[in-house]
Amino acid sequence: MTYTLLWGDTHVHAEYSPCFKPEAIPDGFDGSPADCYRYARDVAAIDFAAVTDHTWSGMGGKTPIMLTDDQYGVILEANRAYQDPGRFVTFPAYEWNSPKDRTWGHHNALFCDDEPPLLPSGSAVSSLDEVWAAFDELPYGAMLIPHHLARDRTPYDWSTFNPRYEPIVEITSMWGNYEYKGNPHECDPNWSPSVPGSFLQDGLAQGHRVGVIGGSDNHTGHSGGHHFPFDPMIPGRPLNEILAGRGPQRRNALGAGLAGVYAEEFTREGIFAALHARRCFAATGHKIRLWTETNGLEMGADGGALPDEPRTIHVAVNGTAPIAHVTLVRNNVDVRRLIPRESATDLTVDLVDDDPLEKIVKVSPPVADGAGASLVYYYVRVVQADERTAWPSPVWFTVPA
Ligand SMILES: [Zn+2]
Ligand SMILES: [Zn+2]
Repeated sequence: MTYTLLWGDTHVHAEYSPCFKPEAIPDGFDGSPADCYRYARDVAAIDFAAVTDHTWSGMGGKTPIMLTDDQYGVILEANRAYQDPGRFVTFPAYEWNSPKDRTWGHHNALFCDDEPPLLPSGSAVSSLDEVWAAFDELPYGAMLIPHHLARDRTPYDWSTFNPRYEPIVEITSMWGNYEYKGNPHECDPNWSPSVPGSFLQDGLAQGHRVGVIGGSDNHTGHSGGHHFPFDPMIPGRPLNEILAGRGPQRRNALGAGLAGVYAEEFTREGIFAALHARRCFAATGHKIRLWTETNGLEMGADGGALPDEPRTIHVAVNGTAPIAHVTLVRNNVDVRRLIPRESATDLTVDLVDDDPLEKIVKVSPPVADGAGASLVYYYVRVVQADERTAWPSPVWFTVPA
């Protein structure tokens, strides 16, 4: 199969989000949904995007603000206007929130249709099951994408994970990286500390099969992993102060998150299908191109029985800075690391895991998937000399009982 690598950002806030900062926007950008798409297509030069204004926002005990039908109509209109398969693809979407944010976490709803309904949100919802039931009724694809997984105010609850409607999670954004607790680019604890138990690796350790993407969560409409020349949460704060690391770092120093997707076709359906198949990867704001194959299996694959022969993880990177290392992660344990001898931004390497099962059990015990299977999973972490990072969706194998 031949795929096209498409870059996208499924997490952009336009002017209808209460956290949008109009006073922080440079001249020439109006913050409308259409302008967000124009910026994504023509300035960030990405291939697909989704404006995800909040359907409900009641942060800080303020009177909740709801996305109105009229505002949603303007967003859908912008989606139609910029939908241009083969050149640029838009997704009707919104950030679906509720007063249960603290227990359920934050999710973006993404739809494979022009006119998806605005689902009840806020206090109108008492259980995530209501969302799954609404998705069941749709004659087209829909998904929820959990994001800033371990943010203390809104940690994601992995016990609510729905494999049918949550194929992917956003693990890097302007807030920070959410691969594991203690990673070097967590959100600044002075701003929004990360809590244990809600990171990507926590979900994987619970046996969930889930793919990964990055998204910007940009609150000034500038999508596509680009950093905007100002602090999104403190308008007027000088850029040199932010870059110098002074004061709270209310943003990810590495960039604002991008999704790389291997699509069979450059259409909304093609990209949705690739996300659903987890044939996608996360990058920290720069277009680090990454392809992996594990014993011939694509990223995100459910690989069946763990092969007896060594597992060979083929990694091809086309980076944006010299590659510092490529680390093979097996069941959340770093088991191999390649440090290139020569400085190169492009790298093709085979990482081989020839550990017998007895050693795997000792070093990185298989995890139960809740359906009777015991899983061994692999992914790589590609880190450049500038610390910018990319991660593919993992690959899973089952261990015979
Ligand atoms: Zn959010
Ligand atoms: Zn958001």
